[in-house]
Amino acid sequence: MMMQSFLIRTGDWLRDHARLIRLLQWLVVLVYGFLLIVPACLPLPGDSARILNNLTLFAQFVFWGIWWPFVLLSMVLFGRLWCGVLCPEGAMSEWAARRGLGRAIPRWMRWGGWPFVAFAMTTVYGQMVSVYQYPRAVLLVLGGSTVAAVAVGFVYTRGKRAWCRHLCPVNGVFALLSKLSPLHYRVDEIAWKTSSAAVIPIRSVDCAPLMPLRHMKGNSGCHMCGRCSGHREAISLASRPWGEEVVVQAAKDSGGWQSALILYGLLGIAIGAFHWTGSDVFVAVKLWLADWLANHSILWPLDDGAPWWLLTHYPEVNDSFSWLDGAVLIGYILGAALLMGTVLGLLLAASVRLAGPWRPQRFHHLAQSLIPLAGCGVFLGLSALTVTLLKVEGVALWWVMPLRVGLLAGATLWSLNLGWRIVGGWQGRRVVAMPPLILALAWVDASWWLMWWA
Ligand code: SF4
Repeated sequence: MMMQSFLIRTGDWLRDHARLIRLLQWLVVLVYGFLLIVPACLPLPGDSARILNNLTLFAQFVFWGIWWPFVLLSMVLFGRLWCGVLCPEGAMSEWAARRGLGRAIPRWMRWGGWPFVAFAMTTVYGQMVSVYQYPRAVLLVLGGSTVAAVAVGFVYTRGKRAWCRHLCPVNGVFALLSKLSPLHYRVDEIAWKTSSAAVIPIRSVDCAPLMPLRHMKGNSGCHMCGRCSGHREAISLASRPWGEEVVVQAAKDSGGWQSALILYGLLGIAIGAFHWTGSDVFVAVKLWLADWLANHSILWPLDDGAPWWLLTHYPEVNDSFSWLDGAVLIGYILGAALLMGTVLGLLLAASVRLAGPWRPQRFHHLAQSLIPLAGCGVFLGLSALTVTLLKVEGVALWWVMPLRVGLLAGATLWSLNLGWRIVGGWQGRRVVAMPPLILALAWVDASWWLMWWA
């Protein structure tokens, strides 16, 4: 009871301090802009550079070592609070939309495949230009996304966040992870109806991601900004059991593009992107192809003169990709995605069929049970860079491996629990359906074992 009233007051506080939040957003915009632009204008760090004495390394640590992993974690803990309160891109897009052309959102932008396609393209392109290593690549990828967000905001809608709702490359990932959160804005249908009958003035709510307030059931699109808190005395910040949305709401609103993002995106493309730098297969295929090309006197693919905005090109630090490197890199990531996603899809399909009659919606629902393990993998993959940077700083890291094992084990059990509860709702053969799901979880864990231990 005390917890609920604390949450209601927190939601109201966010609503009543919109100016303070806007100030905070512009502060984040300033820091983000500084760390994005200034390192790209400086020479690359030398061997003796450290996080605390070199701005480029500091920015690299902030962006990839802290910002991304912990923004992902915040989605699971607080829903998309980051989007509504701190995200510089969302804030700038909304600001531009208040001053722009105010056009209606076009049909092409509403296409349901954008969350998957935008995530896949950004992830692969980020690897092609080595976005984790070089500040010019960061400026290109993150800065390009910010410019696009502002341009979309300027052209479409009046003061809303069309970019965040439809095109942001991480919108789909955030939408999935926030389903796990124990916090959401709950809509009380009865209170809403009662307030309609009462003759009281009702202020309108400026919901930037355009949520259908009255019928809002899940957390996926809500930015947790609090602007609707107390609306018609029917909406309030509230707690719910962890993962409840995945078990209950996702039975209806899960679909093919979300499954593609989980199976081929987070558990496929992302894993391929984290794996390739340490992969023996990648090296073997590249050497074999290089040999074959040389033997056939086809030498242009071995040339490493591609521009830096297409493929990594930093001859001053002996790091330049040839056309062959780029092709094998893309092939490796897409091949890994195809392998991971297809094996997982087949195992999930087997679970669905063993539980009872085949229904595509059941397949999509069960795919959502993998969200904890998929999210944990991306967190671990990104935090690998944090670990590498801390190692150079001489920080003791004996605790990292046990922590990784603990997180993977916890996420695996959470996914298994969600799968058990989802299949339980089908009134089918629950126990028989579990072995393929367990194999699917083991398949994902094996890919991390390959990366960390094998
Ligand atoms: S529904 Fe809209 S207004 Fe309400 S908290 Fe979510 S994003 Fe903000």
